[in-house]
Amino acid sequence: MKVVFVGTSDAFGAGGRRQSAIFVETPGGGGVLLDCAPTTASGLVALGIERQAIDVIALSHFHADHFAGVPQLVLASMYEDRRRRPLVVAGPPGVEARVRAAADAIGHGLAGRELPFELRFVELPPDEVVDVGPARLATFPVHHQPETCPHGLRLEAGGRTIAYSGDTGWFDALPARLRSADLAICECTFLAPSFEYHLDYETLAERASRFECGRLVLTHLGPAMAEQRGRLAHETADDGLALRV
Ligand SMILES: [Zn+2]
Ligand SMILES: [Zn+2]
Repeated sequence: MKVVFVGTSDAFGAGGRRQSAIFVETPGGGGVLLDCAPTTASGLVALGIERQAIDVIALSHFHADHFAGVPQLVLASMYEDRRRRPLVVAGPPGVEARVRAAADAIGHGLAGRELPFELRFVELPPDEVVDVGPARLATFPVHHQPETCPHGLRLEAGGRTIAYSGDTGWFDALPARLRSADLAICECTFLAPSFEYHLDYETLAERASRFECGRLVLTHLGPAMAEQRGRLAHETADDGLALRV
């Protein structure tokens, strides 16, 4: 699989970077976008990734920096791309209502529009494995604001697995959830413990040996983490980082 980090900042664009989005090209050529932020549309253009290459948008939770870019992407697919291929938006239970409400609130409402392609919403139930487009997706519970219906995601395609924490604070089952993934993408917002619903480097570095995963890449970096990028013992993502799994 080919993985491109479209956005790697925390919620507020720390370090001048874009918010969370990761593009995965599966071995069969299908595309999955993990999270879709308000800054994702410009990121895709900047990185030369066509919106048409995305078959599935898989959402980790309903914070704006992870899902508020969906309406814009849908409208651009309609007006700019004249898209015909189906687009699936997969996410926590309630995903369709959340996306539609967000679209209405920001003036990009979807109701009443004649989309020239099928827009399908898929709910990812807790701890179940679902085949969605080119990938097999499984979710796991994480420790983040409960009202945002947060979960982490494991994506499998072509015999390779990517585990993505989404946003989360530390919880004891986290290593097991990332275990054995060929690529584990873990949030690390802070350098030192600051807030129970986000991870920090001190906590992670101390416990990272428990992950027993392949390559571990830290993302969702806040200001102090963005400043330390490249100087830490663990790999930190940057916008545009591309790798193969
Ligand atoms: Zn976030
Ligand atoms: Zn969040």
